[in-house]
Amino acid sequence: MAKKKIAVVGIGKISQDQHLPVIDKSGDFVLAACVSTRGVGHGDVPVFKTAAELYAQMPEVEIIAICTPPSVRHAMVREALDAGKHVLMEKPPTTTISEFDDLVAHAEKKNRVLFQTWHSRYNAAVDEARKILKKEGVKSVRINWRESVRKWHPGQEWVWEPGGFGVFDPGINALSIFTKIMPFPVFVQAARLSFPGNRQTPVDAEITFKSGEKHQPQMSAGFNWLEESGEIWTIAVETLKGTAMKLEKGGTVLRLGDEIALEAPSEEYERIYERFAQLLKKEKSETDGSPLRLVADAFLLGARNNVEEFHW
Ligand code: NAP
Repeated sequence: MAKKKIAVVGIGKISQDQHLPVIDKSGDFVLAACVSTRGVGHGDVPVFKTAAELYAQMPEVEIIAICTPPSVRHAMVREALDAGKHVLMEKPPTTTISEFDDLVAHAEKKNRVLFQTWHSRYNAAVDEARKILKKEGVKSVRINWRESVRKWHPGQEWVWEPGGFGVFDPGINALSIFTKIMPFPVFVQAARLSFPGNRQTPVDAEITFKSGEKHQPQMSAGFNWLEESGEIWTIAVETLKGTAMKLEKGGTVLRLGDEIALEAPSEEYERIYERFAQLLKKEKSETDGSPLRLVADAFLLGARNNVEEFHW
């Protein structure tokens, strides 16, 4: 089968770290063009300043990966769908739920494939954790998601602007795993959001969750963006059967009790593009918005806490 031509829009950190190298070695896709406001390219493919120029000059490219920050995604995805393209969106999808719902409906109306990626979900350990919780039930959950904003978003001012998500930019990755592995729906019960005095988004969040389960599992999450000792990306669950289960290293390792039960190298973006190829073949969209809804609910319910200013 001939590889499908794809263009990447927004040649920033994640495009350069993951999308472009993964497309380069993909058996399903071949990079046909880049869209970059700064004129950044990859290999010898054409580079366009705007998506509109790409759509006008290379109509044969029918598949687009949009890897910009979320604030511009709604307009860009709509433009792509209106141009008849199938679209892959980086996470977080949009800055509001209404925009997200609109894109899902618009893709359906235009009969195009829309794929909302949640990269942290693409790990074998996450799939296994889901199976175990379905069988054993959930007694308690504690999520700890701590990393350095200086390491993962160096100099990116958009993360601190309204709609930039702050510590929920990584936190939504934890919530994407949480919503995938839980055998019942979860809701935000309360949240405490800590904002640096000079910034518009939180640097730290503490959230408690509730559910409709009679036994009322205890569930909470702590997100922090000033962790300089290395990444702490863990989800610890005690099952109703008493198993101590822990996802570590962002969902790449599954620990049962003291033993590592599963550990696989991180190939999240490889699996994302494999999944996208399957969805295109089936002409089917995949658009789960549940992690975004939990983030929105945390902002709706969040108590504000002012903390010291953040400077790079
Ligand atoms: P980034 O380095 O700031 O890059 C995003 C790129 O989007 C920019 O370099 C720019 O590309 C383009 N862009 C930015 N603002 C734009 C605008 N107003 N109009 C048009 N294009 C614009 O951000 P990133 O870290 O790659 O993050 C992008 C998305 O990926 C975010 O949603 C983030 O949550 C997600 N993500 C990031 C990481 C990570 O490790 N950083 C990991 C997983 C997912 P050009 O200069 O080429 O136009």
